[in-house]
Amino acid sequence: MAELGIGIVGAAGRMGLALTRAVVEADACRIVAATEMPGHGSMGADIGTLAGLDALGVILGDDAGALFAAADAVLDFTSPDATANHSALALSSATVLVTGTTGLEKAHQAAIDQAAQSVAVVQAPNFSVGVNLAMALVEQTARVLDEDFDIEVVEMHHHHKVDAPSGTALGLGRAAAKGRGVDLDAVSERGRDGITGARARGAIGFASLRGGDVVGEHTVMFVGPAERLEISHKAGGREIFARGAVKAALWAADKPAGLYSMADVLGFND
Ligand code: NAD
Repeated sequence: MAELGIGIVGAAGRMGLALTRAVVEADACRIVAATEMPGHGSMGADIGTLAGLDALGVILGDDAGALFAAADAVLDFTSPDATANHSALALSSATVLVTGTTGLEKAHQAAIDQAAQSVAVVQAPNFSVGVNLAMALVEQTARVLDEDFDIEVVEMHHHHKVDAPSGTALGLGRAAAKGRGVDLDAVSERGRDGITGARARGAIGFASLRGGDVVGEHTVMFVGPAERLEISHKAGGREIFARGAVKAALWAADKPAGLYSMADVLGFND
């Protein structure tokens, strides 16, 4: 079978560089194009060199339209506005889209949902196998433990991160809410500060820590009378997300239009 042609948008970002390395180390795919924001300092550089590898003969450009036309699948870990634009391009060029951008508002998500009506889109707040397993365990645990157990989601990330709580923390919260059969928006307690009043029974709380170069740590606590169960995941490097995203692109290549999750890719929903 021909190799899958992959485009990477935001290729000089932290995830973009990890994605470049992950595509190079994977079988059955190769990078055909890479873009960055217009005016980016690395424009014109070979993306292999940027990622610390041998030159790949793929030059960093800023023409996203040309990238989508050239690629079979596009990996997008950029910013919410860029992801909305990339979703429109996936739709018009009928290209598979794998996106991990977090901090999306409703309008950004609507652009992704619209693309997924015509092409296969894989979207996940976290592409690591371990975190997706943790989400399944959290859902199952929340189904078993009643509201005598307070659920708190704690996350820590590097000091560059711009959104909070992390997309993964929200995903874990959604998994807990699903297990309990409640709507996360109706029960979430975020950003506690000052005289907040007592914790509401059944609430799902979030707390965010920021510092240093922490790639991503998440713990969901089920805090009951005289006992506490914790489900934790600690990411050691961005390659876990990048490898998952490449796996998702290969999986989605022959799938019909639809919005898929990493649970679909890993077969947790079979
Ligand atoms: P980053 O800032 O290092 O990289 C983002 C890159 O996108 C930057 O280089 C930026 O210049 C580029 N970009 C912005 N607009 C663009 C455009 N219009 N066209 C092309 N490139 C553009 O950030 P990062 O740490 O790599 O994270 C990127 C996103 O991915 C964030 O939302 C982050 O939360 C998310 N993320 C998700 C996962 C996951 O598994 N889902 C894992 C890690 C990070």
